[in-house]
Amino acid sequence: MRRQTTGEQALKKIILRDDEMPTQWYNVVPDLPGGLRPPLDPATKEPMGPDKLAAIFPMGLLEQEMSDRRFIDIPPEVLDILKIWRPSPLVRATALEQALGTKAKIYFKNEGVSPVGSHKPNSAVAQAYYNKREGVKRMTTETGAGQWGSALSLATNKFGLECTVYMVRISFEQKPYRKSVMQTFGAEVIASPSDQTASGRAILASFPDTPGSLGMAISEAIEDAASREDTKYGLGSVLNHVVLHQSIIGLEAKKQLAIAGDYPDVVIGCCGGGSNFAGLAVPFIPDYLDGKKIRFVGTEPSSCPSMTAGALAYDFGDTAQTTPLLYMHTLGHDFVPPGIHAGGLRYHGMAPIVSAMISQKIVEPLRLHQLECFEAGVLFARTEGIIPAPETCHAIRGAIIEALREPEKPQTILFNFSGHGLIDMAAYDRYFAGELHDYDYPEEQIAASLAGLPQI
Ligand SMILES: *Cc1c(COP(=O)(O)O)cnc(C)c1O
Repeated sequence: MRRQTTGEQALKKIILRDDEMPTQWYNVVPDLPGGLRPPLDPATKEPMGPDKLAAIFPMGLLEQEMSDRRFIDIPPEVLDILKIWRPSPLVRATALEQALGTKAKIYFKNEGVSPVGSHKPNSAVAQAYYNKREGVKRMTTETGAGQWGSALSLATNKFGLECTVYMVRISFEQKPYRKSVMQTFGAEVIASPSDQTASGRAILASFPDTPGSLGMAISEAIEDAASREDTKYGLGSVLNHVVLHQSIIGLEAKKQLAIAGDYPDVVIGCCGGGSNFAGLAVPFIPDYLDGKKIRFVGTEPSSCPSMTAGALAYDFGDTAQTTPLLYMHTLGHDFVPPGIHAGGLRYHGMAPIVSAMISQKIVEPLRLHQLECFEAGVLFARTEGIIPAPETCHAIRGAIIEALREPEKPQTILFNFSGHGLIDMAAYDRYFAGELHDYDYPEEQIAASLAGLPQI
């Protein structure tokens, strides 16, 4: 699908029409070399079927979670809502390229154009749809930095569902405007750990001053959902169905690069639970398996290095040990990362799909410090004019490292701009005030929490 271009002049951005938006998601699981190990029931250590998970997830999502079909139709009701902001633009970072003095072409997929400013509604809308279709009235979830809670609040509101969000306490205190966004969409927001659930009360009894963690908030949200007939739970990353929904990012990017007459040599994303990176990367995997030379680089903070310093093992997704055991890169379900400002990257585990691609040497993980990432983010803002979320700064730093490795090499770099930072300016304030510092990678703490991995 070649389009008329303006002669030799490079395109600054490539925009698809609504009717060029993908109508199917791509499921990478059947194409993964070596496949995926199944989730295990923690009680029996046997593979866990969909029936046991049906208390907290609707069947529509569980079918996707376990599906071996390569392409799955996106329901028209979901497409209609995604069209509020999708297809998202693919932008050539020409000013950044110039500032770096590189011959590399750098493209970014701008997921910051969604109503809540990140890629997360791509999955939230789909999740709310399948819950609504199966008669669910209310959804619970956790949120770290507030991005996922905002996304699910938007999505549940569109489908007329109630929503309760357990928000990691330190973010609840540091990010009041995320709370306001969720409340605007009609959600109830509770600081976690809270006294509303047994797991929250147990954590508070042992650690009254804890800043909270995603693992704790997940425990509370699952307990809430499991205790009510009309309520189910939604997870914003990690699981196969979330990666499936995010594949729309890479499917669009592929079409857009084709219009520009380009193809990536390297695909980069920042990794919290792995969903935005995988969403951009997986549609390129079939080409890679056909022999096309593409590198895939996933970046992570050195303070929460699940891919580069975690174990590849079966572990719980939450602190209270209520989830199935997932085979993934993990720092241990007890791991509480330092309070770095990229809240969306503070999770102890990594998507099984991304973990499998690391073990197959398809994905190269890269560990980055917080200050180099903010520096990259500020350069990006001052060249491309868009202020990135602190999480996204990790992808930008990765792209800059690639572009400067061999500046004379005319390669094509594609990274995911997972979100804008306009509600994260307090973090930038602290960066400019010199109050942020790099954390050494917490070796002892990781060793201690890895010692608590379940025995399989
Ligand atoms: C949540 C979030 C991330 C990390 O989550 P993934 O599941 O790894 O994509 C990255 N960037 C932004 C802006 C986020 O909100």
